[in-house]
This record gives sequence, structure tokens and C-alpha cells, in this order.
Amino acid sequence: MSFTLIRLLNKKPHKKHEIVQEIPEELDEDKISEQIESKEKILIIGSGIMGINSAYFLAKDGRYDVTVIEKDNPIKGATEQNGNALTFILYPAWTTMSIKQVMKDIVTFNSTPTCYFRLSLLFDKHFRFWAWKYLKCRDKECVEKSNSAMIKLGATSYNLFDDFIKDCTDNNPDVVEYHPEILTTIYKGLTKDAIEGKKELVKFFQNYVPDTQVVSPEKYDADFVYQIPIRCLNSARFVDYMKLRLSDKYGVTFIQGEVKAITCTETHVKAVEYADRMARVKKLKNFDKYIICAGTESINIGEMMGLKVPIMGFKGHSLNIFVKDRDIIDGTHIHMPETICVSRVGYNTTGMVRVTGFADVDGNNLNPIPWRKDMLTKLAKKFVSEEDYDESKANHWVGLRPVTADDVPLIGKSSKFSNLFWNTGHGSRGVIQSIASALVLHSVISDSDCPEGLAAKDYDPKRFDI
Ligand SMILES: Cc1cc2nc3c(=O)[nH]c(=O)nc-3n(C[C@H](O)[C@H](O)[C@H](O)COP(=O)(O)OP(=O)(O)OC[C@H]3O[C@@H](n4cnc5c(N)ncnc54)[C@H](O)[C@@H]3O)c2cc1C
Repeated sequence: MSFTLIRLLNKKPHKKHEIVQEIPEELDEDKISEQIESKEKILIIGSGIMGINSAYFLAKDGRYDVTVIEKDNPIKGATEQNGNALTFILYPAWTTMSIKQVMKDIVTFNSTPTCYFRLSLLFDKHFRFWAWKYLKCRDKECVEKSNSAMIKLGATSYNLFDDFIKDCTDNNPDVVEYHPEILTTIYKGLTKDAIEGKKELVKFFQNYVPDTQVVSPEKYDADFVYQIPIRCLNSARFVDYMKLRLSDKYGVTFIQGEVKAITCTETHVKAVEYADRMARVKKLKNFDKYIICAGTESINIGEMMGLKVPIMGFKGHSLNIFVKDRDIIDGTHIHMPETICVSRVGYNTTGMVRVTGFADVDGNNLNPIPWRKDMLTKLAKKFVSEEDYDESKANHWVGLRPVTADDVPLIGKSSKFSNLFWNTGHGSRGVIQSIASALVLHSVISDSDCPEGLAAKDYDPKRFDI
């Protein structure tokens, strides 16, 4: 009751006794109860960056009573330890990946494939389902559509990020380690023609980010190097911070529990069953709307409702290392062709540097791929010097990028259940795309306009009949 009152009155008290004092005397309590009752009750499953930002825009709207259920505290999904780089760079969709090259790498046992594929997955039913749809999304028209939809989502988010973080943190971005950075991309092993191609790419980026520039490759012992301004956000810290903020300021309720079953009629989701921290089974019902923000695990949630979700986890590894020399890195670096990102996550507070990389189709599991782990460690040692590398402090992590068959996220209303919504499947760009995605979702739920330049139909889950 107390938090709901706060939202109705649009005040910001943090303690219960303050709330009581702030209710104006003339307010009719029955009327307030009526208004509270009239609020739509929304349940969000998953509190990674997508669940949190969806909760933020819905709760801020004032017409919704938002509850979030999450199984892990602290979070362990892709939001926990990604590269944390918010870039404007227009990465192509995964549907442009060269299958020929992937197959060649398998046949030749290439030790550094760009994308490793575990052949035994061909026996996996879910992989075959995803792959069939993925193959259908590789024609020119579909790829162009995917790239355009993703670029728009990323660009809209990127332009909103500074103000969004200011708003969320009361103008104190340091609490979530948000700061501007320079991203240096270092290419080795390029042919002369490929270098010319990269120069053209930089010119293209300059149309969007004028400060993008080619820099001398000698310093990096490389063939070609360019720099582009980006932003960095510690997304795990952001999620932790926002959980407190959302409950304090907007009355969002957080439940720790793992969704185990979902009850549906032909047309509606009726209830969600979950196991709490003590493994007790509980039920959540009487919600008006349900939103799935469960990353790669949206596949399992879909199965609970008889829906096949075309998402595959692209496995990435990360390694947190602690550096003594604070001048060791001058920003975020991407090393090509390995596509390994070295970023200063936690650098200012703990002296920690994060090395992340790889996108392997190895199944929807969190088992580390040992030789990928070794590759990261080798690079990290090169970077901080063999003597300074402290294995006992290094922290290895594995995460799954939720990649849809066309590499465009699923945002909007289900085609099967009228009170079910999705905000998932953001692949390699979830952190950067999270603001615009949450705004698109909000526009669909509240039947209002999308942010300028975006069209909700581009992300509509109905294209996959879910
Ligand atoms: C190595 C790596 C590097 C990356 N680098 C970047 C980058 O630099 N920039 C960028 O923009 N993106 C990056 N990404 C992608 C980004 O991390 C993801 O797209 C994004 O974090 C996805 O967020 P999400 O909220 O959809 O999923 P998640 O973070 O996975 O959150 C889903 C949540 O749902 C919860 N959940 C699942 N099932 C249940 C259940 N049954 N009951 C209750 N809760 C449940 C999970 O516990 C989890 O917390 C990277 C990803 C990886 C793996």
C-alpha cells in the first residue's frame, strides 16, 4: 500500500513513516484504492538489463503496477559480465556469418576459428529448429531488414543513453560506472586490399560518429587501427543499483524465484508457478500482462507455454584480471581477427580489466570451452605481462548471447496469448539496445507512439509465430 501511494502522489520518500506524513489530508482513501485497483498488474520474468529497463519505463509511466521475478541474485545471465561497451558501430547481423568459413574451420581443425560450431548439435532438436529458421533468414532482403532494424534500435538507444543514466542515477553516473571511452580497434594480418576496405569502413562510420579516426598502427604493432568514441556501462552494477531504485522510487516489487511452470488457456496466460529460495513452490496469478525478458532461457519459458522460441545461445567467455599499472590501458581495445575486447570495467574502482570474446555455437549450456579459456588467458598475460598476471585473482566466466534466427530482437505482443509480451533475443548488442527496446515494448503495451525513427512492427514476435 505504501509504495503504491508514493506513485500515485508522485513523491519520492524512502521510508514508510515519511509516506504517511505526505498524504494530503483531503485525499479520499477509497478513491486512492480505486485508482490502485485500476492499475494494470504486470509481471516481468527476468531481471537482466532487458527486464530492468522494461520495468523502468513501465513503472515510470504510472499506469502499471510492476513485479519482476528473477532466479539469480546477484544476476548470472549475459548482463553479468559482458564487454560493457556501448558502441555506435554497425556490426552486421549474425545472418551474414560465412557458413563456408565455419565449416572450413571445422574440417581443418583451425585452432582460432571466428565462430566455433559443435557438430554434435546437429542431433539437438532445438538447434535444428533454430538453424532451419536461421537459414531462411539469410537471403539478401532479410539480412538488409535485420541490419536496418538493429542499427535503428542501437542508434536510438545510443543517443538516449547519457540522459537515461543521468535520470536513473540522479546525475551521478559513477555509481554504475558509466563513462565516455575511446574504443581502439586493432587489426593484424590484413592484406593491402583489406586495409583499403577498412579505410572505407571508417569513412562510413564518420557519417554517424564524426570523431572516428584512423590512427598510426605502429604503436600497436598492427596493420590498421582506428578509434571511435563509445560509452562504457557496468551493466551488472547498473542492474543491482536499479533494483533498489525501482523499488524505492517507483514501487516495483522484486521476487527471487525460478519460474518452473506457466498455466495458460487457449488464449491467455493464467498463472506462473515458481520455486522460491527455499525451493518452496508458489504461484503468481491475477496479473493482467506477462513479459518474458529471460535472455537465452526464454527458450525454456516458451516451452512451458508450448511455444518454440527461435533463439540460440552464442557462447562468449570473459576473464576479469587485476592490474597494478593504472596506465596499462588507454580505453577499450578490440583485437582483430580474434575479436577480443579488453575493457576497463571496474578499472577506476578496483583496478580490474575485463577481457571478453568469442561467439561459439556450442549449445545452450554454460560449460566453458577449455581452449577458448586458454586463448583468453594467453592474451591477458600478454597484456599485463606474465609476472603481473595473478591466476588466483583472475575470474573466468561464460555467458550466452541470445541470438534470434534473424538476429533481430523479439519485442512486443505474442501471437498466441493476448496478455503475453516478449523483450528478448538481443544477441551481441543487448546492453546498447536496451533503452530503445524497452521503449518499443512500452509503446506496444500502452498503445502509444514508438520513439521517433523506430517501428514496432520491425521487432514484432509474430514473425516467428510466438
Ligand atoms: C561475452 C559477451 C560480451 C558481450 N558484450 C556486449 C557489449 O559489449 N555490449 C552490448 O551491448 N552487449 C554485449 N553483449 C550482449 C549482452 O550482454 C546481452 O545481449 C544482454 O545482456 C542480454 O540481456 P537480457 O536481459 O536479455 O538477458 P540476461 O542478462 O541473460 O537476463 C535474463 C535473466 O532472466 C533470468 N531468468 C531466466 N530464466 C528464468 C526463470 N525461469 N525464472 C526466473 N528468472 C529467469 C536469468 O537469471 C537472467 O538474470 C555481450 C554478451 C556476451 C556473452
